[in-house]
Amino acid sequence: MELLSKHLVVAPKSGFEKSFLGDTSRLKLSVHQKFSSHCRPAPRASFGNGNTIKIPKQWYNLVADLPQKPPPPLHPKTHKLLNPEDLSPLFPHELIMQEISDERFISIPDEVVDIYRLWRPTPLIRAKRLERLLDTPARIYYKYEGTSPAGSHKPNTAVPQAYYNAREGVRNVVTETGAGQWGSSIAFACSLFGLGCEVWQVRASYDQKPYRKLMMQTWGAKVHPSPSNITEAGRKILQMDPSSPGSLGIAISEAVETAATHDDTKYCLGSVLNHVLLHQTIIGEECLEQMGDIGETPDIIIGCTGGGSNFGGLAFPFLREKLSGKMNPVIRAVEPAACPSLTKGVYTYDYGDTAGMTPLMKMHTLGHDFVPDPIHAGGLRYHGMAPLISHVYELGFMEAVAIPQTECFQAAIQFARTEGLIPAPEPTHAIAAVIREALHCKEAGEEKVILMAMCGHGHFDLAAYDKYLQGNMVDLSYPSEKVEAAMASIPKVLL
Ligand SMILES: *Cc1c(COP(=O)(O)O)cnc(C)c1O
Repeated sequence: MELLSKHLVVAPKSGFEKSFLGDTSRLKLSVHQKFSSHCRPAPRASFGNGNTIKIPKQWYNLVADLPQKPPPPLHPKTHKLLNPEDLSPLFPHELIMQEISDERFISIPDEVVDIYRLWRPTPLIRAKRLERLLDTPARIYYKYEGTSPAGSHKPNTAVPQAYYNAREGVRNVVTETGAGQWGSSIAFACSLFGLGCEVWQVRASYDQKPYRKLMMQTWGAKVHPSPSNITEAGRKILQMDPSSPGSLGIAISEAVETAATHDDTKYCLGSVLNHVLLHQTIIGEECLEQMGDIGETPDIIIGCTGGGSNFGGLAFPFLREKLSGKMNPVIRAVEPAACPSLTKGVYTYDYGDTAGMTPLMKMHTLGHDFVPDPIHAGGLRYHGMAPLISHVYELGFMEAVAIPQTECFQAAIQFARTEGLIPAPEPTHAIAAVIREALHCKEAGEEKVILMAMCGHGHFDLAAYDKYLQGNMVDLSYPSEKVEAAMASIPKVLL
């Protein structure tokens, strides 16, 4: 990544700055040379972190522009249409309104924009060195969300969620976390608004990832391994399997139960729901501006999908442009072969959690009692997919592929050794798909513009890199027969 921010090009003062700036002025010179040797200015390496781009003032709601509305959520017991009030034990009013909204744009509160300024706008970076390594005519760009305090895109929604809860007088927020990314993001956000925060962390990751837990605790959150014996849902699982490694579905049940049984406590979710995807569109809105600024239009947009929020966040504003005929990018989701909810899951009504307490949502699902194999991309191990992403997929506006983890880590190593950033295990899936596409462009001699969602860094996931580098990582795939078997426990919804 070349650093070209304006503030690096001031006159040197101290000896340290002199040697530091010595380097950047050379970089600057080489860019000047490129500008003069092309008829069209060569795209800069990095865009938007020199304060040229403003933080968008509105989130974008894709629902407003879809030719068919997504199927509505249903009550988990009665299977009738869910009333917005049914959600009020769990969520503050404003987030429920956003969840069901079909307004095209929703204003971002000033207080939230002010906090976004800590790390936004995030950079859009051209991966020139990766292009060179692959010897591809494609131009690869990535929108990097790892500059946030928690190191991923998740604070984009954690901050507004904490804000609306605090504004409506809620005292405590409870949630679940898999890999620890969401837990640390909401712990960070709650600390800014003086909210109490309790997190159920999937047992397997609680044991394997002490540093994420310590981040949450540093930001003031209380962390429980899940399943725990604090909740009815957790105790039930432990009775059946005392050494259960847990799952996101189980941890969600525990947090939802706690919110439903405490008046001053609400629940929050880091992915899947409409309002979460809405908040994440800040990524795509910014990126549209940044790409417009350099005169580029993506031919293909690639992102990894766990619940779908970083992918939808980048892709939805571009999908709006596609639906209105202004551009025509292919939009491609990438999921792990071990948790293939889009490519192998069934599109049907299912619960969002294991105990069946959440509303029924129509989505691509592997079944709510799915317990994933312990692949390293913890954030991609959810049984379902965002109903909005699932719907867009059914409408044919996007495609999906599943990639096994060793190919992903191989791609991540190539990325780290050319671009410098060490990616989180989740976006290694996007990188692997980008590399496939770039090599395809090389074979076909196509100059495509590839845009990738680079949703977080992997500084707390180095154990996964250790496994890969030692040659101990194995590929796991999920057999279709298991999906069929899981459908037996899916609620029969008669609409
Ligand atoms: C949580 C997480 C994911 C998966 O969630 P999505 O909602 O699909 O984005 C992916 N990458 C990172 C870095 C995460 O923290």
